[in-house]
Amino acid sequence: MLDLNSKLSSLEGALKAELSSVKDLKSLDEFKIKALGKKSELYQLTRNIGELDPAQRKTAGALINKLKTYIEQNIAELEAGLKTDDNKNKLSSEVLDITMPGRVYPLGASHPVTQVLNELIEIFKPLGYSIANGPEIEHEYYNFDVLNIPREHPSRDMQDTFYIMDNVVLRTHTSPVQACTMLQHTPPVRILSPGRVYRSDYDVTHTPMFHQVEGLVVDRGIKFSHLKGTLLYFAKRMFGEKTSIRLRPSYFPFTEPSAELDVTCVACKGKGCRICKNTGWLEILGCGMVNPNVFKYCNYPDDVTGFAFGMGIERIAMLKYKIGDLRSFFEGDVRFLRQFQ
Ligand SMILES: [Zn+2]
Repeated sequence: MLDLNSKLSSLEGALKAELSSVKDLKSLDEFKIKALGKKSELYQLTRNIGELDPAQRKTAGALINKLKTYIEQNIAELEAGLKTDDNKNKLSSEVLDITMPGRVYPLGASHPVTQVLNELIEIFKPLGYSIANGPEIEHEYYNFDVLNIPREHPSRDMQDTFYIMDNVVLRTHTSPVQACTMLQHTPPVRILSPGRVYRSDYDVTHTPMFHQVEGLVVDRGIKFSHLKGTLLYFAKRMFGEKTSIRLRPSYFPFTEPSAELDVTCVACKGKGCRICKNTGWLEILGCGMVNPNVFKYCNYPDDVTGFAFGMGIERIAMLKYKIGDLRSFFEGDVRFLRQFQ
C-alpha cells in the first residue's frame, strides 16, 4: 500500500505540473487523453487493482479514484476558464464597427460608341424598327453579290477587304444583314442592323474595325420622301431641333438613286468653321432607294420599293462629342473614357 501511495503522490505531482503549463483548449484535450485515457498511468493502476490482495483492493480503488476525480475537477475548471478567454478573444478580434463609412468604388460607364448606339436605337424604336443582327464573318456572296456589288467593284479589292479564306470575308458593312433579312422574310420589312465591320484602313478617320448602323424599310408605296422625312427626324433627335439636312446625289451599288446626307455643322451651327471646312455642313451618312437588282436577288415581288441608310457610329460620336481622332475610341485610355461618364 505504501508503494501505491507514493506512486499516486508522484503521479499527482507530475500531472499537476503538466496541467499548469496548459494554455489553450487544444493542448488541454491532449492532456486529457494523456492523463485519463486508456494508455494513461492512472488507467493502468485501475487495471492492476485485480492483482492486489482482496483486503487491499477497496482502499487502493478509493485512492486511485480520489486522484482521478481530483484531476478531472482541475481539467473542468481550467476548461471553463479557457473557454471564457477564447470567447473574449473572439469578441474583441471579430468586432464589427457598423458606424464606419463604407468604401466607395468608382463606377464605370458605357463606352461612347455604345452610348451613341443606344441613342440611335432609342430614336428609331418609336418608328417601328426592330433590331436585326448578323455574323461578322460573312460569305462573299452576302457581303457583295446580293447587294449588287459586281466582281470588278473596287471595294472588293484585297486592300479594303479582309479575306479569311476564298469567298469568306470579315464583313465590310452591315448590309449583308439587310440581304439576309429579305431572303428570310417577306415584305414589309423595317429593321435597324447595328454591329462591327472591318476594313483594311488606318488613319485619323479610319480604323480596321468600326461600328455601323444600317436601316432598311421595304413595303409597297415607299418613296424617297419617306427616306427624307425619316432622316430629318433622326438628325433633329440626334443633333438638336435646329438641325437642318441636305441631300447630295451619290453612288452606291445597292441603292438607286443614292444620296449622301449632310447636317448643319455641330460646331458652328452652319456659319462655317474649320471642322466643316467653312461649308456649314457635315456629311454623316449614305442612303438611297433600294436598287431593284437587290430585290431581284432576294426574290422580292416587282411592286415593292424601299429605302436604306447606313452610318458609322464612331463618326456620329466624333461629331457629337467633338473628338478629333477616331483611334482614341479603341486605345482603352481611361482618361479619355472617363469624360463620357
Ligand atoms: Zn462648322
